[in-house]
Amino acid sequence: MENEYILIKGRGPILITAPHVITTIRNGKNIHVMERYILPIVLKLYNELGEDNCTLITWNRKKVRKYNKKDLSDPNFEKENDESAWFAKIKSLHKKRKFTLHLDFHGMDDETTSNNLDIGLGYKFSKKYNKKKRKKLRQVILNEFQKIDEKTGISQMFRGGGCFLYKTLTNRTRKLNIFSFQLEMALWLRKKIAKSHKKIYLLSQIILNIHKKINHILKNKSNKTKKNPKSKKYKKSSQTMKKHNY
Ligand SMILES: [Zn+2]
Repeated sequence: MENEYILIKGRGPILITAPHVITTIRNGKNIHVMERYILPIVLKLYNELGEDNCTLITWNRKKVRKYNKKDLSDPNFEKENDESAWFAKIKSLHKKRKFTLHLDFHGMDDETTSNNLDIGLGYKFSKKYNKKKRKKLRQVILNEFQKIDEKTGISQMFRGGGCFLYKTLTNRTRKLNIFSFQLEMALWLRKKIAKSHKKIYLLSQIILNIHKKINHILKNKSNKTKKNPKSKKYKKSSQTMKKHNY
């Protein structure tokens, strides 16, 4: 049923999701209000990035409004074992096209932090990457997003849901080994970006740069973290390493 209201565009490796462009329901009863300006931002961003670079997943707001749907559940707040229509889509697309970056777009209240733009890397970020790599990844993300607003911050804290029982979209895509983060923007900044072609273009360049640089860092074997020796990836990389050594 939810499937009919999900909008999917493009076929690129950069996955952009925006689950709060309509009012959704959490936990079967709590209302999560729509985050303004996110929909025009992600649609314009998708057009700028192009269908070969980007895959966009959001709600079909026109259809939701046409049928007056008010009971769609929040894809960013679902229990781990519950069926998630959004994640099922992501998983099946990932099999075909392999996403290499996932950005989940959100709005935040202007008073939430002193930042205008907040990036959430997830509470497992420090477990997943070694210190050197974490520093590089953080630096790339910060340097790039500060081009759009100097007051950009990175948080590793779990936010939004406030409870480990519920999984966000980025929690889930990280499990598929996709580098992913949540982007939260202050209302006035969202408004500014949504109304400016220059800002949309800048944001698209930032995302392309991050995609390129992050994948370069993650492929760099010199600062690779310990991997499960049984995993295919490890075997593959150790073979290529051997090749280079001899
Ligand atoms: Zn949100």
